[in-house]
Amino acid sequence: MSDQPSIDAVRVATVVDPKKSKSFSLKERPTKGDAIFESKKDAKASLDEDALAINDLQDKMFACKAGALLVVMQGIDTSGKDGTTKECFKYTSPLGVNVFGFGKPTEEEIAHDYLWRLHVRAPKKGYIHVFNRSQYEDVLVVKVRNLAPPKQVEQRYEQINAFEKMLHENGTRVLKLMLHISKEEQGERLKERLEVPEKRWKFNPSDLEDRKLWEKYQEAYETALQRCSTAHAPWHVVPADSRTRRDAIAARLIRGELEAMKPTYPDPGYRLDQFSID
Ligand code: ADP
Repeated sequence: MSDQPSIDAVRVATVVDPKKSKSFSLKERPTKGDAIFESKKDAKASLDEDALAINDLQDKMFACKAGALLVVMQGIDTSGKDGTTKECFKYTSPLGVNVFGFGKPTEEEIAHDYLWRLHVRAPKKGYIHVFNRSQYEDVLVVKVRNLAPPKQVEQRYEQINAFEKMLHENGTRVLKLMLHISKEEQGERLKERLEVPEKRWKFNPSDLEDRKLWEKYQEAYETALQRCSTAHAPWHVVPADSRTRRDAIAARLIRGELEAMKPTYPDPGYRLDQFSID
């Protein structure tokens, strides 16, 4: 498709360069996405093409057990973590993709170290897992709401880097997407949740409490992206004010990760003339 921006171009436009991550500024990143996809129509066509390719690549990845893919999906309330997951994997076989949401830790989870509940849900070879919220909540909400001593939070950036490096070195590619929306757009989406009867169930008054802490969350995200954008697992900031562009950009990046594994159907060596099938 001629109007599809190259995967490399999308990577360059969204990545937090690990070599320059210390000076990364979230405010300088666009929330609109029109520099990558000028028109919504092109974004929609690109998304459809990539969603089909993602299914095809996952099938091959499963067949040859080339590795695994972990997609870490982060973003403030209403940024579209669910919607992006639904759209990017709309054609992927349910056999090959698993989605895990991480909310407030349970008693069992809190009794373990904070990475325990994540590690146990990391993908087996051949699979794609999506983390809807992730290990990063432990340096985001936990930091903003003072749920752990600051010293412990401070230690976590390096611990998370080491965890992701271990996954990478053992065959799991880690793609981290931060869905970046503006405060105005979040306001619109929260209003929509109250206005549209089918969306009302999604409204949670605690989202308004978090909205009051907007600046603190933005700072916590900026620090996490500065400290945890590494060569083995760089962060990508996905402009998320336009749902269609957001999904199309995420799909380009997911497809890129799967293509990088170069999955192919293996040849077990059997031929039809070796067998008789009645
Ligand atoms: P979502 O908002 O993603 O649709 P929920 O309504 O279940 O899903 O919200 C999950 C909540 O759990 C969020 O407010 C999130 O900040 C919180 N949460 C996630 N991880 C942790 C954690 N480690 N410690 C405390 N709260 C957490």
